[in-house]
Amino acid sequence: MEKYDVAVCGGGFAGVSAALAAAREGKKVILFEKEYMLGGLGTAGLITIYLPLCDGLGHQVSFGIAEELLKLSITYGAEGRYPENWLDSIGTKTENDKRYQVQYNGQVCAILMEQLLTENGVDILYGSYVVAADTENNKITTLYVENKSGRTAYAVGSVVDATGDCDIANFAGAPTETFRQGNILAAWYYFTDEEGYHLQQVGAADIPDEIQTDRKVPLISNRRFSGLDGKEISEMVCMSHQKTLEHWLKKRETNKNAAISTIATIPQLRMTRKIMGEYELAHTEEHTYFEDSVGMIASWRKRGPVYEVPFRTLYNKKVKNLIVAGRCTSVTETLWDVMRVIPCCAVTGQAAGTAAAMTDDFSALDVSMLQQTLRQNGVVIHEKDLLK
Ligand SMILES: Cc1cc2nc3c(=O)[nH]c(=O)nc-3n(C[C@H](O)[C@H](O)[C@H](O)COP(=O)(O)OP(=O)(O)OC[C@H]3O[C@@H](n4cnc5c(N)ncnc54)[C@H](O)[C@@H]3O)c2cc1C
Repeated sequence: MEKYDVAVCGGGFAGVSAALAAAREGKKVILFEKEYMLGGLGTAGLITIYLPLCDGLGHQVSFGIAEELLKLSITYGAEGRYPENWLDSIGTKTENDKRYQVQYNGQVCAILMEQLLTENGVDILYGSYVVAADTENNKITTLYVENKSGRTAYAVGSVVDATGDCDIANFAGAPTETFRQGNILAAWYYFTDEEGYHLQQVGAADIPDEIQTDRKVPLISNRRFSGLDGKEISEMVCMSHQKTLEHWLKKRETNKNAAISTIATIPQLRMTRKIMGEYELAHTEEHTYFEDSVGMIASWRKRGPVYEVPFRTLYNKKVKNLIVAGRCTSVTETLWDVMRVIPCCAVTGQAAGTAAAMTDDFSALDVSMLQQTLRQNGVVIHEKDLLK
């Protein structure tokens, strides 16, 4: 049986960041991805807006691979709604200025991420669904992957669950939680017309239950989706396709050259299942110092909040060599809506991948060593270390 030091499951922005970080630490890394491109929701899902690396008050808070991937995504130019690079005039920004976010070309970004991982020695296995895990003495020993070759077993040292749905934690018996509020329907697509090609956002972000205001999100369907049931996901995708068609037909009444160019090839689900970590970070914990912070994130929802991300939000002791990244991180339901976005997935991905390169027992890891490596790789760990 082939053995890898680090197995990364899922190749969205979290998985790409994790695989890159682990490979740069000199480990033998494999990345299993069920689709045939990298980037997950951020490419195949057509969610091509890299939300802010800054707090909206003039301070960059997410660094390292989160920034590297943002810059990579606009190698050949930014596009659409957020064409500007905030860093052009760093230090002069105020709360009225644009935030450090971009819109990018998803297809180009997927190819560039693939090249980056390959250059760094990551083995990418596409079309490969991780379907089961064996555990022994509270560690995952083997992952089972299904693809064109049939079912193959891989021996693993440590495992990063970047599936977005916490699939591996679920297979391995780590405690997980599902999204109570349920996903609303989205039908983002791309179309072309005489003026070029455009991202069409159909289905706005929901407002978390706990911070409900009088503001109502315009729903395109009243049905809610868990995103964890094969039949339900297929129904959701069919509904989403129907909404795309309706939306485009309406658009064509006034824009006769409008043509649908791309529909998503993975379901546009925001939150499904996450780990119950050793710590659960809450939206009220902005500007809180955590000794075991592994980086910082900002809130895309409003200017101001900065969160240090405790290492303990990435694992549960029950499965010692399993760490999560991205949408699966342990946060409250309200903060989930912040933690799920692309820059935050890259921050947790880098931390998880670096840690996975250092140990196969996360609760026993000396976090100061992890922080030291992250710092060497450009991450700013604590808010007090930001240049203000
Ligand atoms: C409608 C919508 C709008 C959004 N708007 C924005 C926005 O404007 N900006 C922003 O930054 N974020 C936005 N988000 C959120 C953001 O796109 C995602 O949360 C983020 O990209 C998730 O990254 P990830 O790597 O954690 O997970 P994913 O992108 O979901 O990646 C997980 C990957 O794992 C693969 N996978 C899953 N299970 C398995 C398995 N068992 N075996 C092998 N592979 C597997 C999947 O194919 C996928 O490629 C939006 C999300 C939605 C749905």
